[in-house]
Amino acid sequence: MSSATLYQVKNNIAIISLNSPPVNGLGQAVREGILDNFKKAHADDSVNAIIIASTGKLFCGGADISEFGTEKMSAAPFLGEVLNQLEASQKPVVAAINGMALGGGLELCLVCDYRFASAKAKLGLPEVHLGILPGAGGTQRLPRLAGAVKATEMIVSGKPVSAKEALESGFVDAIHADDSDFLEAALAYTAELIATNAPVKTCADLSVDTSNIPENFFADFRKSIARKTRGFIAPEKCIQCVEASLELDLKAGLEKEADLFMQCMTTSQARAQQHLFFAERAATKIPGIDKNTAIRKIEQVAIIGAGTMGGGIAMNFINAGVPVKVLELKQEALDKGFGVIRQNYEISAKKGRMTQEQVEQRMSLLSGTLSYAELNEADLIIEAVFENMDIKKKVFASLDEVAKPGAILASNTSTLDVDAIASATNRPEDVIGLHFFSPANVMKLLEIVRGSKTADDVLLTSIKMAQLIRKVPVVSENQWGFIGNRVLEPYGREAGRLMLEGASPAQIDKVLYEFGFAMGLPSVMDLAGIDVGYLTRQARKDELAIDPTYAAVSDRLYELGRYGQKTGRGAYIYKGREKIEDPEVMEISKELAEKFGVEQREISDQEILERTVYMLINEGAQVLGEGVSYRSSDIDVVYAYGYGFPAHRGGPMQYADEIGLDKVLASIEKYREELGDYGKLWFTPAPILKELAAAGKTFKSYKPSAFKKT
Ligand code: NAD
Repeated sequence: MSSATLYQVKNNIAIISLNSPPVNGLGQAVREGILDNFKKAHADDSVNAIIIASTGKLFCGGADISEFGTEKMSAAPFLGEVLNQLEASQKPVVAAINGMALGGGLELCLVCDYRFASAKAKLGLPEVHLGILPGAGGTQRLPRLAGAVKATEMIVSGKPVSAKEALESGFVDAIHADDSDFLEAALAYTAELIATNAPVKTCADLSVDTSNIPENFFADFRKSIARKTRGFIAPEKCIQCVEASLELDLKAGLEKEADLFMQCMTTSQARAQQHLFFAERAATKIPGIDKNTAIRKIEQVAIIGAGTMGGGIAMNFINAGVPVKVLELKQEALDKGFGVIRQNYEISAKKGRMTQEQVEQRMSLLSGTLSYAELNEADLIIEAVFENMDIKKKVFASLDEVAKPGAILASNTSTLDVDAIASATNRPEDVIGLHFFSPANVMKLLEIVRGSKTADDVLLTSIKMAQLIRKVPVVSENQWGFIGNRVLEPYGREAGRLMLEGASPAQIDKVLYEFGFAMGLPSVMDLAGIDVGYLTRQARKDELAIDPTYAAVSDRLYELGRYGQKTGRGAYIYKGREKIEDPEVMEISKELAEKFGVEQREISDQEILERTVYMLINEGAQVLGEGVSYRSSDIDVVYAYGYGFPAHRGGPMQYADEIGLDKVLASIEKYREELGDYGKLWFTPAPILKELAAAGKTFKSYKPSAFKKT
């Protein structure tokens, strides 16, 4: 028998311990181990009860998703079969839930007769995030034990609940709250069950309590999640499963669940969401760096600038319990910045997301200064001042004078050359780009920009730090726009040009929204500020002069002072929260089209989609080929977490792999011909797109040169 599970008998109680680090995933060896040990315990007359426990920190992270799509997934025994046998046990089975029990891990607990949980345990069914549903009975057993309302909320949100909440909802029977040994406590709990002749139980005997389900619950629930789950298949299938649990007996319900599970599992969405799950983890691995490199400690952080970004960045650290000192030019700027931070926390407290005490505790970790000399204790200093190279260089020269040896000096620049910033110091190896996204306390992505001299341990420490503050890190080489803004450029350029050719902002928005973006590009421009886009283009004026039509409509809107939402007018007119189409924008584009000799015409939705999204993919391929990103999935992570690319499409590169690179290439080549000089200027397929398409391969299969070296 494999060591994926361990077996012992203590005081006539068999203990089957999951022993498969790191998360006790329910791979084939674990499934087999549970079943074989269970049979052994059942056959042993001296055993009165069985405990399912864990040797690790968590109880069980669920299915081993690396088995998905492989033969191992269908290798006997199936999880469902293991669970059915446990549920039918004649001897009481107790789940000793010492920590996290997720997905299949919680489904394993639900077939046990009793659930004994550590107070720190968390229980959840996160399958929806992988584009599927709990397929080992979770959708049928949880409603029977916790009620349909709780089960629906948990299954559709995928969010875990605390042991206390699980106890209150009825799917945990007892909690271990003191400091004594957990397994000993579970043994004592089980001994007590035996002593009191506690009955064996099965969900098959239970029906879902319908007495406390509010009228129209499912219809109202669907409405409440409609916006958030737009375009996703799995949430609806999850609801259908819970609905089935009200009508069907357990056996028929499990069959229905299996049917709906397979419907989800075979979708491109499931592939996309599972791709992102692995992509996020892969992004932390940097080719060519010894993973045993010691990292630096980050116990104190300093931030330069208390503006929009500086304030948000500070919140990330104080939320993680790390003290932060913020430096500003003037006391008023500090007061203003801290005022915004406090207000953000107060709003959270009002919404019940934190207590007033927690607000004060977080604010107590924040201090301000006007003097560089006070930054001499910081382990990490992040600059978030104006986007201007001269100012940034001055800041870094000052930091070089005061920062302690080994301190990491980071810039939050969105566009500037990190090597040039590093050159202002005598320690370029300690300098790195940490590109947070706005709002920095909310957005998950952290683009880490590796300068040509950045030390390996500085890079690894930054990745670890990102995880500490719950960000998703992706490393980019130091090139203009890094990964995110570089790849965005052709997407934005095409949206602008399509307006010039006759598409309305509303049509472009509609196409991109229906594709799954939270917002189309014209709306994003209005939100971010047309002035901000203009200033970024100004910095690249010479480069962009090759195309006089480049962002012509946006430039004109800027000249007219139509900066977007902030001025009440941009690509749209804004009245309060209302967004209204503006015929004047169409007149502007018509006039500019005439000026530049661009023919205006009806543009199909498909053309809008291909010219924006396929060109984004093409730039991704370019970035990949140049080695700016280390793998195509890194680009997907950047887009899904930083730019609102629909997660159910898995990011631009996964989307391209799914529809076929030959199709993307053919479309780009078509527009290269159809769009005349403009097409020739911009529609050049990236070499690796051509190479991979010709070979019938995917971006996923591509190994950039950084890997080839190692
Ligand atoms: P901001 O104007 O809101 O804040 C900048 C702050 O820096 C101001 O409070 C200013 O007083 C302070 N400051 C300026 N010079 C200083 C100096 N020499 N010493 C100390 N403080 C100084 O700007 P922001 O939007 O927070 O942007 C900051 C940086 O973050 C820029 O490099 C920007 O490109 C980058 N960034 C911004 C966004 C965004 O969406 N706003 C997103 C990612 C990155």
